Amino acid sequence: MAEVSVVGGGLSGSEAAYQLAERGHDVTLYEMRPVRGTPAHNTDLLGEIVCSNTFKSEDPQNAHGLLKVEMDALGVGGSLLLACARAARIPGGTALTVDRREFAERMTAAIEAHPRIRVVREEMPGLPEGPAIVATGPLTSDALSECIRGALGAEGLAFFDAIAPVVSFDSLEMERMFFASRWGKGGPEDYLNAPMTREQYEAFIEALKGGEGYEGHDWENVPYFEGCLPVEVMAGRGVDTLRFGPMKPVGLPVPWLDGKWAHAVVQLRREDRAGNLWNLVGFQTRLKIPEQRRVFKMIPGLENAEFLRWGSIHRNTYLNFPASLSAHGSLRDRPELIFAGQITGVEGYTESTATGILAAANLDRVIRGEEPVIPPPTTMMGGLMRYLRESDPKHFAPMNSNFGLLDPLPHRVKDKDEKRVQLAERGRVDFAGWMEENGVTGGVPAAAAA
Ligand code: FAD
Repeated sequence: MAEVSVVGGGLSGSEAAYQLAERGHDVTLYEMRPVRGTPAHNTDLLGEIVCSNTFKSEDPQNAHGLLKVEMDALGVGGSLLLACARAARIPGGTALTVDRREFAERMTAAIEAHPRIRVVREEMPGLPEGPAIVATGPLTSDALSECIRGALGAEGLAFFDAIAPVVSFDSLEMERMFFASRWGKGGPEDYLNAPMTREQYEAFIEALKGGEGYEGHDWENVPYFEGCLPVEVMAGRGVDTLRFGPMKPVGLPVPWLDGKWAHAVVQLRREDRAGNLWNLVGFQTRLKIPEQRRVFKMIPGLENAEFLRWGSIHRNTYLNFPASLSAHGSLRDRPELIFAGQITGVEGYTESTATGILAAANLDRVIRGEEPVIPPPTTMMGGLMRYLRESDPKHFAPMNSNFGLLDPLPHRVKDKDEKRVQLAERGRVDFAGWMEENGVTGGVPAAAAA
């Protein structure tokens, strides 16, 4: 078996290192802490979680729960992160909530005790030679970031995200919305429009101005660009600012107003080919989640909207995956150099770790001369990977796991809970089928599987 490097001993890199070692490779894991810190990490432990202490739901009929089922299936001996999290669990309902210190100590002990892993505490200033996984996360060091920008160009790497909320198509009240592209330019179903009367608009602006925002750490304070201001900041600049900005109604005749323009319009842009996910254009925000729920439900048609992704703006180093990487997340001319974790454009602890497990399985295949493989988009990992590779590179923004990423069911299911049950069951079955078809092993120690 080969000698491989993993850069970054966070959630994704630690899991990837462990998975590669369990698949028989000799791994050198580079972690820069404590030699060089990050603005968010406080310890030198591997797999430190920097904020909330929950890995979200374990209910297999929840999007995060389904992802966990897949991680345990693909990980050799299951997922290391999930095993450590379950051992460090504290009460939290169906959420996998942990004692953060105990969790990271368990991750560190498992990695350091592994006979095929060598941990090197130093900053990797450039991309490694030879087979490698780079999982340096949202706070990738400056030297490595610069090197990646050199390899991919300035458009290939972002340092901040400005995320607008995404809603599911099924949850929209379509009688209050209409399809149209501004001035008829673009496809007839590229945009959905939610027109507002003057009264609705003014009430909406007041609510936005009154919304409570998230106060980040100093280092997280984002240098806002004029073209990318939080929607609540624009609302605060004057009652008409949004109406002459992202909410401008011009060029969008409203079918039930004899083709006249509305006072203001919220536009939603299609995020995926199937039309499950719709993005509120220009609505990047630092409002707290309950405030987003309260304010954005005032938009006509969104009264009962299911929010699949909440808006946010924070410091985040991530690649423009669809513009720069291969389908399995490698540099296009180096299939054996694979990126994993939050730097690929997924969002969240569990999603980051899941991409680490997949990257390890694929690096193992590449080393053995096999083609990398990606689960089908009826599974949560497959849905996330499809989002990464097929998103419009001009609007690429990080994504968390949600059922809107999956192919729709072939039949209509009205009841939302029943729909989730069916999506989750199909995902579980398809993931197992995909592993079998492609000869991907996992779930049990490699030696026992051989
Ligand atoms: P990380 O876990 O950050 O690991 C990357 C590792 O690489 C770090 O240990 C770092 O020290 C190391 N490193 C960086 N550069 C180098 C280098 N050049 N050489 C060697 N080592 C290097 N997600 C959630 O799900 N819930 C939350 O509540 C949440 N809160 C967050 C709060 C903040 C302030 C931030 C920044 C992120 C938050 N996230 C949250 C996102 C979360 O950080 C990621 O989902 C997750 O940690 C990503 O895992 P990762 O392995 O990709 O990166």
